[in-house]
Amino acid sequence: MLLNLLLRALFPANCAECGRKTEKDMALCEKCLASIPTNDFLFCGRCHARLPAGKKICHFDTPFILAAATNYRLNPPIQKIIRRFKFRHSDWIGETLGQLIRPYALKVLPQEDFLICPIPLGKRRRHERGFNQAEVLANIVSRDLKISLEKNALQRIKETKAQTLLSGLKNRELNLENAFWADSQKVKDRNILLIDDVTTTGATLSSASSALKSAGAKKIYALVSAKAG
Ligand SMILES: [Zn+2]
Ligand SMILES: [Zn+2]
Repeated sequence: MLLNLLLRALFPANCAECGRKTEKDMALCEKCLASIPTNDFLFCGRCHARLPAGKKICHFDTPFILAAATNYRLNPPIQKIIRRFKFRHSDWIGETLGQLIRPYALKVLPQEDFLICPIPLGKRRRHERGFNQAEVLANIVSRDLKISLEKNALQRIKETKAQTLLSGLKNRELNLENAFWADSQKVKDRNILLIDDVTTTGATLSSASSALKSAGAKKIYALVSAKAG
């Protein structure tokens, strides 16, 4: 953390999109941040159909409802900062994504009592990156929306291959089968706000949601900064 502060002091941020100087600890300038279109809806976790009333209208057996603040495709500023968010010493980028997530989450999430659970990273990848980007975002959402967070309620029990190396939903689902375990003492009868940085096929969120459901969780909303597709 100290090293990060030092790096940020030596190299103040420039906007990842246009190169202009940014506000303190922002990865995008105000103009580029404001140019990112945010969503107004919740989505089906399986097919990404809009759920205007927040009620499932298709794929009723999908264990979660997707809350995605923005879309990854056709959105270069988001693509740039999410890619950068995966590098070492780039945990500070979470604040920029948090600024997009906060107004969206306030608009679409039901007024219910939630417990925040970040998607855990495998030990090896966490070590390589130095931090878990889902946990960084979960801390920011917890602080901004005043929702309690339980870091260890959901755990990864299988080291999986990087999803990006696998094509197709079936392969991705097989890779993640039984990858997670949830602590029923912490999640039983709770509504869960599951947090990750980005979702593509939804296989990770689905596998984690199944583990949470098996441990007795009630409703699950998966909140991400962007969805692909
Ligand atoms: Zn800019
Ligand atoms: Zn659907």
